[in-house]
Amino acid sequence: MAHIAKKRRCSQYWQQVNAQAMQDVIQRIDRGYQLFFKHHGKGVRPPNFKKRVKYKSFTLKQNGYKLLGDGQIKIGTQIYRYWNSREIQGTVKTITVKRNPFGEIFIFVVTDYIDEHQQPMTGKSAGFDFGLKTFLTVSGGSRIESPLFLKQGINQIALANRHLSRKQKGSKRREQARKHYARVHEAIKNKRTEWFWKLAHQLTDQYDHLFFETLNLKGMQRLWGRKINDLAFGEFLQILEFVAFKKGKTVGYVDQWYPSSKTCNHCKHVLESLPLDVRRWRCPSCQAVNDRDGNAANNIKEAGSLSLGVGDVRPSQTAIAA
Ligand SMILES: [Zn+2]
Repeated sequence: MAHIAKKRRCSQYWQQVNAQAMQDVIQRIDRGYQLFFKHHGKGVRPPNFKKRVKYKSFTLKQNGYKLLGDGQIKIGTQIYRYWNSREIQGTVKTITVKRNPFGEIFIFVVTDYIDEHQQPMTGKSAGFDFGLKTFLTVSGGSRIESPLFLKQGINQIALANRHLSRKQKGSKRREQARKHYARVHEAIKNKRTEWFWKLAHQLTDQYDHLFFETLNLKGMQRLWGRKINDLAFGEFLQILEFVAFKKGKTVGYVDQWYPSSKTCNHCKHVLESLPLDVRRWRCPSCQAVNDRDGNAANNIKEAGSLSLGVGDVRPSQTAIAA
């Protein structure tokens, strides 16, 4: 997808590489990407970028890419399809290709376009707890449910996959089933991403500072299997960080080892353990009845607010730092 920002503030490693060197790198990864796009979802891993920080990315200035319109971009010698999250306004300055921890690929388009409607500050902060059925529980108790198409989408993908696996290898029908599977997958992914962008705008309109727990993505994937992949928290956070950056808002993270679920938000009593299936619990110290996720979101908000400016909070600018 493409996105716009009025100004790039971070100097990027890849920008220091001259055009010819960049071309060489592009050509090298090009082959890897051809394979990756072709076999996406079949266990083939995308090519490795040189790791700088958490997200792997590279930026192209004038050369090495061409926007062909109609959702197509040429990088190196290869043409890739992408899905546009919004219209590109202004003159394109740079293009950044990023891969999130789930292997999903984003194209960020930076233009000279200046958004006249700067977002006003609201003075509000919120903590958020991720979940499977409820996508986000917000401090204060409100909930953002996972949209129905996400749940239905999982079934549709499974069905298309079953059809595919029943067809004989090398047959015409198998090729048809494979194309169908790819289309279903793509359609659901696009819908999901569109929802993520909307939600990111909605939340950053409402709050100035948004706090989350840092995610142990690998651990969560092991624990919950592919469900976590379908919900793609990592993708959502990446989009949210980008939108927050644009609006001058902050996305902050609370350490994943902070006991947000086990700490009573009322009296700060910490439980020794809290099994995953316990959704409500009574605090043995102050007798308050805590909703598991709501209590965690409240704690995340408090911990995040406390640490704001002390160094624990990751400024949203890092959203576009490579
Ligand atoms: Zn308590």
